[in-house]
Order: sequence, then structure tokens, then C-alpha cells
Amino acid sequence: RVIQARKTLEPIRLVLNAPIERAGDSGLSGNRKILGKLDFINVRFTYPGSPSPSLQDINLSIRPGERIGIIGRVGSGKSTLLRLIVRLLNTDEGAIQLDDSDIRQYSPRDIRRQIAYMRQDSNLFDDTLRANLFFGLEQPDQRLVDHALAISGVAHFAAKNAEGFSFRVGPRGERLSGGERQAVGLARAMIGDPKMLLLDEPTASMDNTIERQIINGISPWLNGKTLIVATHRAALLDLVDRIILMQDGRIVADGPKDQVLRNLKAG
Ligand code: ATP
Ligand code: MG
Repeated sequence: RVIQARKTLEPIRLVLNAPIERAGDSGLSGNRKILGKLDFINVRFTYPGSPSPSLQDINLSIRPGERIGIIGRVGSGKSTLLRLIVRLLNTDEGAIQLDDSDIRQYSPRDIRRQIAYMRQDSNLFDDTLRANLFFGLEQPDQRLVDHALAISGVAHFAAKNAEGFSFRVGPRGERLSGGERQAVGLARAMIGDPKMLLLDEPTASMDNTIERQIINGISPWLNGKTLIVATHRAALLDLVDRIILMQDGRIVADGPKDQVLRNLKAG
């Protein structure tokens, strides 16, 4: 029994002894309000063990309230760029500034409370639909919640389910369809009422009708917020007015939507 208990304890000890996720390195953290001005200065990033950088020479300036689409071929660096903003990754060279301060001065907690990030792959966990929607959020406003559930389409499919919001979604949400998982991810991002919304292929598994409902529904909600959406879907570009085109880890075009798309067509 002692051996058994030791075996059980070992993973727990690993968790308890793990270092706390990097706090803001300056110690200035703790409820820093984010306005959402974002600057990339000569940013370069290479994944550990990777022979070549996934991002290089990234220079970019984003003003609060802008709506930006990031487009580019598979593997061009779109998702990597978003991960750097929420500090899931740190730059190797160059700097990212948030409201003119180095982003490393903000704790990941401060950042993620105000910058909602919806990953490209599902980040649901094996619990109820309710837990997946609200985990870690402090007292969300009920009106915002209802609105987010309606716009994302979660309200619709939860209503049809006998267990409703108590439905257990399974590991990585595998008891939901791909489109339903994305709806949950989107609702979760909206419920926190973030200053910035980063969406990585939010509608890739959805049909055109639902995608259109989301686009129409979310547009007024985005007022005053910064949107950055990485996507291969043309319809989503209706939400943006600026487009960044990536190629092999570099930005090859950045400007007003019409202009970038026109140049793209012209080759
Ligand atoms: P997609 O359109 O398929 O989503 P993307 O533009 O989002 O592509 P990224 O996921 O940012 O592309 O990947 C950029 C490059 O970095 C690719 O060459 C990819 O192979 C590499 N890469 C991505 N994630 C990792 C990782 N965890 N470890 C090593 N290399 C990675
Ligand atoms: Mg991607």
C-alpha cells in the first residue's frame, strides 16, 4: 500500500514543485489595465529544436480598436504570431510592446484576462459544458453571457441537448462536433469581455450558415475592441478592415483590406 501511495503521490508532487508560471518580470503586474496598443519590433522566433525561425523581421503596429485579418499559406506563422501576443511563447530577438511597455512586464494572468485567445485546436477539458465556458472567469455579467451564448451558437445546441449545460464534453471536448467545440471556444472568449480578441481559425469546422450568423452577430459586439483573426476563410474577412499577409514567417503585405486583396489578385 505504501508503494501504491507513493506512486499516486509522485505526479502530485511534480505539480506542487513546478515553478509558478512566469510572473510579470518587472513586478509591476497585478491588475494592469490594457488599452491594447501593440507593437512588434524586429521580432524573431524559433521553436526549440527547430532548424529555422518560424517568424522573422516582424515589425507591426496595432492601434486599439483595429480589426485585423492575418492570412497566408499553411505554416506561414499566423498561429505563432498570436501565441507570442498572449505570451504562450516568448520572442528570442526583438521585442513586443503592449501599451508601450515590454510585454514581459505583464503577467500572463493580466494578459489573458484582458486579451481573449481562441486557439486553432480545441482547448476544452473533460468536464461539463458549463465548466468549459466559465472556468477561471470572475463573475461574468449575465447579459454578456447570454449574448455570447446566442451569437456563438452554443445556446442553440445546448438547448437541444437533454443535459443542457451539465453535458460532459469528454476529453478535449470529443463528445461535441468540431463546429460545436469551436462555438464553445468562441463563447468562452467573448464571455470574459476582453479588450482584445485573438481568434485562430474560429470557424474552420463550421458551415457557411453558422459562420455567417457569427459574423453578423459579433460585429456590433466588437465595437471598441481590438480584433485579430487568423484565417483561411474569406467570409471572416468581412469583419476586418486591415489585412496582414504572411509568407514563410515574414509579413509580406500589410494594409487596408481592399488594397491587400487587390494586390493579391493581381499577383
Ligand atoms: P496554418 O494555416 O496551418 O494554421 P500557421 O500559419 O498558423 O499555419 P504556424 O502554426 O504559426 O503556421 O507555424 C509556423 C511554422 O512553425 C511552421 O513551419 C510549423 O511547422 C512551425 N511550428 C509550429 N508549431 C511548432 C512547434 N510547436 N514546434 C516546432 N515547430 C512548430
Ligand atoms: Mg495556424
